[in-house]
Amino acid sequence: MRIDLHTHSTASDGTDSPAELVRNAAAAGLDVVAITDHDTTSGWAEAEAARPAGLTLVRGMEMSCTGLGEDGYPVPVHLLAYLFDPSHAGFAQERERLRGERVARVRAMADKMVADGLPIDPDAVLAGTGASAGRPHLARALVAAGVVESVDAAFQDLLAPHGPYYAEKVDTPLATAVRLIAEAGGVSVVAHMKARKRGRLLAESEIVRLADLGLSGLEIDHPDHSDPDRAALLGLATELGLLRTGSSDYHGTNKTIALGACETAPDQFEALLDKASGVPVIAS
Ligand code: AMP
Ligand code: FE
Ligand code: FE
Ligand code: ZN
Repeated sequence: MRIDLHTHSTASDGTDSPAELVRNAAAAGLDVVAITDHDTTSGWAEAEAARPAGLTLVRGMEMSCTGLGEDGYPVPVHLLAYLFDPSHAGFAQERERLRGERVARVRAMADKMVADGLPIDPDAVLAGTGASAGRPHLARALVAAGVVESVDAAFQDLLAPHGPYYAEKVDTPLATAVRLIAEAGGVSVVAHMKARKRGRLLAESEIVRLADLGLSGLEIDHPDHSDPDRAALLGLATELGLLRTGSSDYHGTNKTIALGACETAPDQFEALLDKASGVPVIAS
């Protein structure tokens, strides 16, 4: 069983359409794939409709949250949510608010670029996004305009938190997010919390607190995690009785990581399914 529980489509900042994503997942030899676009479920229906026979589809999302950093200051955190009921009103409303923050934030960053004379068209950038706008859309526009050589180069400098064009957005407090996901029958897993190259890290004490509030798991095997960090996270998950997942965080050609680059063990996937009651996986 090959299981990848974290991927993105054109519904957010991936480059495969949801249909291409599930076809590519089957072609890559995966048995199970989760679609986890940022703050939206808008890719679910297309992925379901295009799912090749034999591939199990897990409907999920990656939610933009905020927690307490190791340094005591707020830090952005990504929380994976699986198999929740998308019609839960409070959760649906919060997702919509997050997408609004994303649009306002991409526009604010694009406006700063225009004010600086960069050849960026904010309307065109926003017209080219799916339900969920993000910095990768700005990165691609900067590459297309010849301002930077690559998406990665854009993130190193122009789009970085310390860079000249960064704008904040207001994300969901982790405790609220864990509660909403649980209320909607979903399972929550903290994504890539040791991805050091993305910036400051979440305090481990936050995981202890969230485990009490219903957090279900930690993403341990991730392309941005070092071996020592994976070992430390495994220790933390074991100590707190949390699920342990592994995933590629595939974004199509926006990143160089392939589908299935990291995987989740079958027993952990089974345990995740046991905790979910929002919507079923789509299989057979
Ligand atoms: P945003 O959601 O707008 O804050 O943008 C963050 C997204 O950009 C994340 O989902 C990452 O997948 C993506 N990202 C971060 N760093 C890089 C990078 N160096 N290259 C490509 N994508 C990146
Ligand atoms: Fe992303
Ligand atoms: Fe993420
Ligand atoms: Zn992701």
